[in-house]
Amino acid sequence: MASGNVIRGSRIGSAPERPTERHEPAPRRAVTYWCRNDHATEIRLALDAEEPAVWDCPRCGVPAGRDAQNPPGRTRPEPYKTHLAYVKERRTPQEGEALLNEALAALRRRRGRE
Ligand SMILES: [Zn+2]
Repeated sequence: MASGNVIRGSRIGSAPERPTERHEPAPRRAVTYWCRNDHATEIRLALDAEEPAVWDCPRCGVPAGRDAQNPPGRTRPEPYKTHLAYVKERRTPQEGEALLNEALAALRRRRGRE
């Protein structure tokens, strides 16, 4: 059997044509996600697939959510408190001053020793 002829006769690299299956594409729905940088990302899900709550934005990588008005990670009406803000809630400025002086004194002592 001259197998060489068979190989030469077919184009290398071309996938064999699949027998045509009358396969309707599964019904899909578009689901849009918004990230906090106002990027809208539309993904297509199968109709019966449950949509994920968040989807990573392909443009900036932050999590995107289904609610355009309130994407995950956007500053809430209640402002994000910095660590300092929490500290200020717990301590009066006088206490803060005392702590700072204490810390500075300790730092200077350490530096003086070294
Ligand atoms: Zn984005």
